[in-house]
Amino acid sequence: MAKSKYEYVKEFETDDKMLRNVYVLVRIDGKGFHKFSQTHNFAKPNDVRGISLMNHAARCVMHELDDIVIAFGESDEYSFLFRKSTDLYQRRESKIVSTVVSLFTSAYVYYWNDYFTELKRPLYPPVFDGRAVLYPSEVEVKDYFAWRQADTHINNLFNTSFWALVEEGGLTPKAAEARLCGTDSKDKNEMLFTEFNTNYSKLPAMYRKGSVLLREQIPKDADKDAIIPTLPETLPGSKSAKVTPAPDTATITLKNGPDSISEPVSE
Ligand code: ATP
Ligand code: ATP
Ligand code: MG
Ligand code: MG
Ligand code: MG
Ligand code: MG
Repeated sequence: MAKSKYEYVKEFETDDKMLRNVYVLVRIDGKGFHKFSQTHNFAKPNDVRGISLMNHAARCVMHELDDIVIAFGESDEYSFLFRKSTDLYQRRESKIVSTVVSLFTSAYVYYWNDYFTELKRPLYPPVFDGRAVLYPSEVEVKDYFAWRQADTHINNLFNTSFWALVEEGGLTPKAAEARLCGTDSKDKNEMLFTEFNTNYSKLPAMYRKGSVLLREQIPKDADKDAIIPTLPETLPGSKSAKVTPAPDTATITLKNGPDSISEPVSE
């Protein structure tokens, strides 16, 4: 094809191919979801419809992008780990990050009404941002997921205590915050148990530890047609692998990856 005289502008593009043979981790996070969750009357501290919709959107991303081996979600964020050898878009960072964020966001809106059944669509378009981080070895990958899960634990224990004080204890948000100031995990567990009759460790694992989506390898000789319809949601474009939602899994196994995500550490 003949080149136009304008073609030179293409040379202004930067080469953002990411280093080879390292793990690519993409994390997306909702923009202003404190407000978004209030506007859409999310139950506090955990709206199960919101979490399920996040999980569904993440599943769509994993169906489309075969090289994602595991994903972890909590609150308004999701982390996606690509296999080391991925050559998706020749590892171009902006292509990979923008594709993940765009697909996640459109799926979130597309499937909104399946979860928030009383509202046809969100009251305004939700926004997610995204970033890619490179991790050289399984040690950092494992610590990365442990970090996110520790964050889930710390935030959820705080939020559960906070909303118990506000909704059941009748405290103002300000008073509840003051009451929790300087408390550690043990104090919060104790307060929930003695004052609100709540055994924190008995709350759903999905709230306390987040959600894990793990790609399972389907044996080569397996009948794929027989396997795919067993998915909780069958999605177009699912190829060689099955994506299983494992919301209650706190310990995960990855072939050629981290052995497990340990229990969240306390504050
Ligand atoms: P930023 O744009 O900087 O990310 P943000 O308002 O999105 O700001 P985050 O730190 O990302 O702040 O926190 C996400 C907020 O969304 C929290 O306030 C959390 O309580 C709320 N949220 C997200 N998912 C749910 C859910 N399923 N149920 C209840 N609240 C939720
Ligand atoms: P890639 O993923 O590499 O971008 P692509 O299939 O999206 O592949 P493009 O080069 O981006 O390829 O071309 C976009 C395609 O979408 C073209 O084939 C174009 O004809 C079609 N298309 C986009 N918008 C319209 C439209 N409004 N009406 C008809 N066709 C359209
Ligand atoms: Mg953010
Ligand atoms: Mg956010
Ligand atoms: Mg967040
Ligand atoms: Mg195109």
